[in-house]
Amino acid sequence: MNETDYGIYCKKCFLKKHKLSKKNLDRIVYTPYVEECANCGKKEKLVDYIEEDD
Ligand SMILES: [Zn+2]
Repeated sequence: MNETDYGIYCKKCFLKKHKLSKKNLDRIVYTPYVEECANCGKKEKLVDYIEEDD
């Protein structure tokens, strides 16, 4: 996964670009702020990163 995609897409657009397993879906960490999605322009919390499994 390209790390530069973190923090710029809303969940919907992020999932369009990256196929996440159900396990990883539960690990999505969102930004603490609302920002404009780089793809659809919707203002909402963006996908900050996916928490890694230990
Ligand atoms: Zn979007």
